[in-house]
Amino acid sequence: MRTDERGLAYSGGWLDRAGGLRTDPGWVAARLTDRESVLLPFWQDRCLVSAERVPVRRAAVEARALLAGADETVFLGLDAGRAVFAVDLSGLAQPEALALAGAAEAVDVRGLVGGLAAADAAVQAYAKGLLHWHRGQRYCGSCGAATAARDGGHTRSCTGPGCGRLLFPRIEPAVIMLVEAPGEPGRCLLARHRGAPEGSWSTLAGFVEVGESLEDAVRRELAEEAGVTVSGMAYQGSQAWPFPAGLMVGFRATAVSTEVRVDGEELVDARWFTRAELRARVAEGRSLGRIDSIDHHLLGSWLDARG
Ligand SMILES: [Zn+2]
Repeated sequence: MRTDERGLAYSGGWLDRAGGLRTDPGWVAARLTDRESVLLPFWQDRCLVSAERVPVRRAAVEARALLAGADETVFLGLDAGRAVFAVDLSGLAQPEALALAGAAEAVDVRGLVGGLAAADAAVQAYAKGLLHWHRGQRYCGSCGAATAARDGGHTRSCTGPGCGRLLFPRIEPAVIMLVEAPGEPGRCLLARHRGAPEGSWSTLAGFVEVGESLEDAVRRELAEEAGVTVSGMAYQGSQAWPFPAGLMVGFRATAVSTEVRVDGEELVDARWFTRAELRARVAEGRSLGRIDSIDHHLLGSWLDARG
């Protein structure tokens, strides 16, 4: 799949999230006995798929055992009016979860992305991210009492006496930057990250810290990791990255100079590439970043821009 042809992977899901309906517990409960409702089963962050590696979908009314075996059932949204739920079977042994779901295999959504439409991958990733959040929020961080899901699984509330703390799914934003050199010829900065395979070059990225704007994070990450100062930047797009809770925010930035000084910690090398050099790498069969990532999209857009 070329994500620049089919949209960014994990974005543009087909569900209406129906946020105004999920807060009505009676409505949510009724959907679980509705003939039209659909269940998407998961096991320990993995999608449960058929022998053809298609994610399993089960009619809720025909899968009562599946619901009974679930640690958590969350309302994802409406698909043409039909309620869609994610069901977490993580508490079962894998063979039992597969049998209950009528699945052949449990696989990571990132391993499926080449065979799924971007929007279908988005729904699977959304479900995986939300179920992962539930498993890590069983107890209150303030008083230590158990928490319980509510709002169709989009909130948890503390059950401790006198506490009542509400927990919401957290997103962890990260910035990812395609940095251009000043002047001609057009060149962009790519880096080799510690632990990456030899010859693997990618754009720079980092998590946004508390008290930072996205732009602050771009400037800090580039200065810290590559010794690069930028004169300006422009937002390019974002990508849901619920592995487990990321949001990738893409920028294109222009460097003040071509001087580069890698930190030796996160980055082991960084250098400037012309479009011709990147095209030559593609011609050799090398991928520009992972095909399901915004890194690939940023590089593809830069290559297509001119030259
Ligand atoms: Zn509490």
